[in-house]
Amino acid sequence: MAGDTENELASVVASAQELLKWEETLGGNGFPASDAPPPQLDVGEDAGDIRARLAVLSDEAAACTGCELHRERTQSVFARGNPETDLVFVGEGPGYHEDQQGLPFVGRAGELLDRMVAAMGYDREGVYICNVVKCRPPENRTPLPTEAQACSRFLIPQLELVRPKAIVALGRCAAENLQVAPPAGRWRGIWGEWRGIPVMPTYHPAFLLRSPQFKKPVWEDLQAVLKVLNRQPPRR
Ligand code: SF4
Repeated sequence: MAGDTENELASVVASAQELLKWEETLGGNGFPASDAPPPQLDVGEDAGDIRARLAVLSDEAAACTGCELHRERTQSVFARGNPETDLVFVGEGPGYHEDQQGLPFVGRAGELLDRMVAAMGYDREGVYICNVVKCRPPENRTPLPTEAQACSRFLIPQLELVRPKAIVALGRCAAENLQVAPPAGRWRGIWGEWRGIPVMPTYHPAFLLRSPQFKKPVWEDLQAVLKVLNRQPPRR
């Protein structure tokens, strides 16, 4: 019994120390960078085939007129990162910089996401990052349900092909479209499941830029993801 209490206490202390280190490194500038080496990834036998099928999907998205969002796009934005990963991040949709560059999460929110990824011990290109919709909604508005539904023709096979061990849904839109958020009430930090893959819904980096006080709960969510993946955050 005493041993249980000691173990519990040690676990609480370790967790508090981790949180303290996290807070110290946050400062006012966001998530800390990490110089940890990228994790070793399992490469499946058919990795080349998966990449080829994703490339076909990406080409199809580039020519897609499946919803009104195609009208104002500069280009579609399919994904960035490594499809042979165990961790996928799903955001809402491309913004201005993403639309210009053809890559997801490349603006300020993208820089913050990169720090979040590094804080988890991953290389920037060691995870796979995509969005619910592949074309920029006007004025960066939230995608309409019809647009998200139309674009699921890409998101669903994309996630099925990558088939990670965990997905982080960034923001309510992503969480709703992966069906892990209730229509109302609390949704952040509550594990859900998408086709057998654990999904952690958490706040979008763009929201964290406006409301940095929520970085702490997001870090707790990311730590829970690391636990599911059997990984430790790197020592800083
Ligand atoms: S958002 Fe998706 S469904 Fe709509 S036009 Fe772009 S690729 Fe097609």
